[in-house]
Amino acid sequence: MTDTLAPRGTQSSSRRIVTEIPGPESQKLHARRVATVSAGVSATFPIYVDHAHDALVVDVDGNQFIDFTGGIGVMTVGHTNEALVQAVTEQVSKVTHTLFAVAGYEPYIAVCELLAKHTPGTFAKKSVLVNSGAEAVENAVKIARKHTGRTEIAVLYHGYHGRTNLTASMNYNMHPYGTGFGPLAGSVHHAPNSSPFHDGLTGAQAAERTITHLEKRVGASQIACLFVEPIQGEGGFIVPAEGYLGALVDWCRANGIVYVSDEVQSGMARTGAYFASEHFGIEPDLVTSAKGIGGGMPIAAVTGRAEIMDASHPGGLGGTFGGNPVSSAAVVAVFNEVEKRNLLGEAKRVGATLMPLLLDLQKKHPVIGDVRGIGAMLALEFVDPATGKPAADVTKAVQTHALHKGVLILTAGTFGNVLRFLPPVVITDDQLREAVAVMDDALSSL
Ligand SMILES: *Cc1c(COP(=O)(O)O)cnc(C)c1O
Repeated sequence: MTDTLAPRGTQSSSRRIVTEIPGPESQKLHARRVATVSAGVSATFPIYVDHAHDALVVDVDGNQFIDFTGGIGVMTVGHTNEALVQAVTEQVSKVTHTLFAVAGYEPYIAVCELLAKHTPGTFAKKSVLVNSGAEAVENAVKIARKHTGRTEIAVLYHGYHGRTNLTASMNYNMHPYGTGFGPLAGSVHHAPNSSPFHDGLTGAQAAERTITHLEKRVGASQIACLFVEPIQGEGGFIVPAEGYLGALVDWCRANGIVYVSDEVQSGMARTGAYFASEHFGIEPDLVTSAKGIGGGMPIAAVTGRAEIMDASHPGGLGGTFGGNPVSSAAVVAVFNEVEKRNLLGEAKRVGATLMPLLLDLQKKHPVIGDVRGIGAMLALEFVDPATGKPAADVTKAVQTHALHKGVLILTAGTFGNVLRFLPPVVITDDQLREAVAVMDDALSSL
């Protein structure tokens, strides 16, 4: 197979479909998969990837796709980012594992220093490194409980926090995360969120609704922590109304509740800030991060106020692989790349190019009810213009059409009626325009 990935910055057309989708090689792999991979692991696309660079992905049949999924917001710095590949390669030949709690190493400490520097707030911060977003959320719960001596966990409608037993209990959608997997964890309380397109409430009104619900149903003095995604990811890139998050932070402070910003999806340069909390002027007590921080290497973190992070007794936090040296080296490379190549600016550029194109699309296609998001975290919500009901069928049809035309796009939303865009922020303006043109075609052909 020839490798014809367009070098970064070139204006060449970037999609190339050379077989039916899925092609014969993908079909062969799929047959092997069905025979041996658990059916519990879903397959959004029927293709299998051979290699990728920046915002382009090439499958095993040589079909080349523009990647609007970024491995669900992981590949912010681009696929096979050269600096990251080099850092990982160097580290892998030095030391791959000791277990930090047994014999430490510098990259783990460097990651904690970078997280302390770049998460919101100038107060003293500490971190623990783990393997996945769900594990970070689980650890944040443990830390908040130990710090407060309280048991109850508050979360929001349409939130998503992972697939372990506790985090599945914290998700809004029972299906597919919890169905049949119970008993789920107790002491988890879901409260209404802020979603301006759906509820029409101001931030103050929505916050009052959330707070009243928690005070009446749970009692503020019982709550250890409130988990909030500053922009809800799986829920459909829901951006809360102005003032909503700030009001929740104030309420948590006044009531001794640990405010946790789940930035697993919204964090690490995605929105044009290191962490999306910055856009809302809030300083969370704890921040969970994962997806984007390792540039594809598995690693996650809980970062926050030193006095809260130190509440745990030694040995209470950690695990065999948490903060693995190779993954930690990848995080250091990602932070360096964000700085060196101005990837915060690139995320803003992606938003500045994409947002007007999406608003034009909305003018042409009344089935697009809402266009929203910040930076390189944008979404379209499809609703039936006559009834206002979620149009999941249209959403799916656009996704399928785009796949066959060489653009990978993810859906989202509790009702499956949102297309979300989280491309590598090094995606070119031409690639953005091309992908939107494909969606335009799809909508015109429906
Ligand atoms: C993806 C995600 C998680 C879970 O992360 P995993 O690494 O898949 O366990 C938690 N919270 C949010 C907001 C996420 O988007």
